[in-house]
Amino acid sequence: MSGSGPEEAAQRNHGGPPVTPDRHSVSGSGPEEAAQRNHGGPPVTPDRHSVSGSGPEEAAQRNHTVLITEVRLYGEGDPVDVLIADGMICEIGSGLRADDAEIIAGAGRVLLPGFVDLHTHLREPGREDTETIESGSAAAALGGYTAVFAMANTSPVADSQVITDHVWRRGQEVGLVDVYPVGAVTVGLAGEQLAEMGTMAAGAGAVRMFSDDGHCVHDPLIMRRALEYARSLDVLIAQHAEEPRLTGGAVAHEGPTAARLGLAGWPRAAEESIVARDALLARDAGARVHICHASTAGTVELVKWAKDQGIAITAEVTPHHLLLTDARLETYDAVNKVNPPLREGTDTEALRQALAAGIVDCVATDHAPHAEQDKCCEFAAARPGMLGLQTALSIVVETMVRPRLLDWRGVARVMSERPAEIVGLDDQGRPLAVGEPANLVLVDPDATWTVEGEHLASIASNTPYQSMTLPGRVVTTLLRGRVTARDGVAATPGTPVGGR
Ligand SMILES: [Zn+2]
Repeated sequence: MSGSGPEEAAQRNHGGPPVTPDRHSVSGSGPEEAAQRNHGGPPVTPDRHSVSGSGPEEAAQRNHTVLITEVRLYGEGDPVDVLIADGMICEIGSGLRADDAEIIAGAGRVLLPGFVDLHTHLREPGREDTETIESGSAAAALGGYTAVFAMANTSPVADSQVITDHVWRRGQEVGLVDVYPVGAVTVGLAGEQLAEMGTMAAGAGAVRMFSDDGHCVHDPLIMRRALEYARSLDVLIAQHAEEPRLTGGAVAHEGPTAARLGLAGWPRAAEESIVARDALLARDAGARVHICHASTAGTVELVKWAKDQGIAITAEVTPHHLLLTDARLETYDAVNKVNPPLREGTDTEALRQALAAGIVDCVATDHAPHAEQDKCCEFAAARPGMLGLQTALSIVVETMVRPRLLDWRGVARVMSERPAEIVGLDDQGRPLAVGEPANLVLVDPDATWTVEGEHLASIASNTPYQSMTLPGRVVTTLLRGRVTARDGVAATPGTPVGGR
């Protein structure tokens, strides 16, 4: 019994002094250790390696090497070989050879840093009939993700260290993607009393982002206190911007389509008024604020204004708000019901331009699995939300790469580098360079695939892209040098993959 499980390592490591790791001597870097090395910042101390690394899995991991051949980094320049050992990129060049390495053919493919999703709903604990940390991790790996942030609106709510620590540990046990718990801002997401953010931040889960997502922290005084507290803890508040007094009973974007269909409208101003308010509150608190799922052209203008003032505001956009509009509602199919709602073409166009320009910082999925009975019902009664992890890249290719708004380096920026920066992950969104962690995704830019909801890894199947043929395909995902997904198949949870 080595006693070096993920939780113990996390506790030992948390708050410990940063130690410059000798990258190539990180010999016992099993998945837990590697995770802990980077989780919360401080790298592990050298003596950690003698604690574990004795089991067969650790040995396989330690010696495991991967050689990606003839791949184009960021889709640029001449193809190169990338050699990975001990979870790190250790050599980049041409004609590389490594005995016993696992070979991944990279010809015709694009290598990017693994994607980071700041907005995922994994439904565990509480709604394991729709998604679990295990099934959601598989979906994430298949979508090219190496880190996801699991929102707090579970049952029970992740408003205490018990829950946030559980989510982190369970994610590490599954081992397909780093699952970072998001803590609730307020107790029970009720918007009335601040949750114990400090203890969640100090726990094994080392919570670095807090959100009441699903609900808006609508009381300005509570939001102000949350921002002040977040500043003192150096954590991030992510706001689901929706003034509830303006959206009571709303199920669709307020506009001509909803009026014609007889659906209660959700006005743009309900989002924009909160974005404007929170920008001012963040300015006064000297805090950072992150806007979840920006959905309107007006939000883009407000975020731009706030950034121009030097306010520490960031924003994400979902793939569905880049592609889909409320024209989708004509069928009354509740698979298109989402919060904030699908808006109009002027909004999708503004969001695409803002993402290209860096006004909107990143793409986040708002992956929201729902049971069939919660979606296949009357539109007004259906739950809002749609799957997103496995289709995100393809929607970004469709909306941003094909129209030449982003090149592959831009995709790396909005799906990996910026989200990692926003939450301060130091092992994700890193350059494709020697000495960097091998959190990577290999993409076939020319492939197309047809979405079949029942074949996605999520337990739920509520994808709005059912039967659509989409461009761009994730071929292989690597987490710390381990293959977590390959050719549409996720690795077995809890087992190092590709080892000898
Ligand atoms: Zn939300």
